[in-house]
Amino acid sequence: MFNCLLKRVVSNFFYVLYRIHLLPSKENCFRILLYHSINGLAAKDTVNFCVAPKEFEKQMQFISESGFKVVSLTEAVNKIERKETFSGKELVITFDDGYTDVKKYAAPILNKYNFPFTLFVISDKAKKNTNLTYLDEWAYLKDPDLKEMVGYNVSIGSHSKSHLKLTLLPTNGIAEQAYISKRELEKIINQTVVFFSYPYGFFNDKVKNILRKSGYKVACSSIIGSNTINTDLFELRRTEVCGYDNLFELRKKLLGCYDWLERFHRRLYVK
Ligand SMILES: [Zn+2]
Repeated sequence: MFNCLLKRVVSNFFYVLYRIHLLPSKENCFRILLYHSINGLAAKDTVNFCVAPKEFEKQMQFISESGFKVVSLTEAVNKIERKETFSGKELVITFDDGYTDVKKYAAPILNKYNFPFTLFVISDKAKKNTNLTYLDEWAYLKDPDLKEMVGYNVSIGSHSKSHLKLTLLPTNGIAEQAYISKRELEKIINQTVVFFSYPYGFFNDKVKNILRKSGYKVACSSIIGSNTINTDLFELRRTEVCGYDNLFELRKKLLGCYDWLERFHRRLYVK
């Protein structure tokens, strides 16, 4: 709680600096938002990564009315590869884990605003009927759901085979998580899978190299920040939106008021 309060206080300080133009607004970059579950039924211990559908709708409306241009991850990556300049207003929307509530609550809202999005799926969860420890609503998207979602404005990426901390695995274990999940998901959606997101955010050079060798083009991290044409495609920064965040917090996150956490996140996630 103190930690959370401290982050808010520091980010408020940055907000003031941006508002009085002591800090220039960020240009030549784009931001990737990270969501997990979109669900109003969060238990106390899960509220952090669970955004209520009503809040999510408000957030998308705010983004739509604030001059942001929501682009697909493919479009953003293509721009990086072509070394094209970003305006600072491009925004990519991603979801980790592949919960059914993304299809149920988030997808209709995103479709309403015509916002493309990327869904990172754990391939074992898409296949198996796992016994879930959370509320029923928290089930994972299965094979038929994913096939159906391909028809939406969505790209599907891998969030590994079984959601393990990759930095703790031996080389063959990392390769299995990378390669098998890619193959399984490609079989389901009948499209090439080139996007990856690190489970729990943990990665290092070895993990990055194995992903490259497995055929991935891009990996999203959990390190906060914005991305430029010089950002490593296997270390794309993402800005997480939490269940606690009201519109003001979202606004601050979009402005970059929380980006001072980048160096701390790097220390935390790069193992
Ligand atoms: Zn995850």
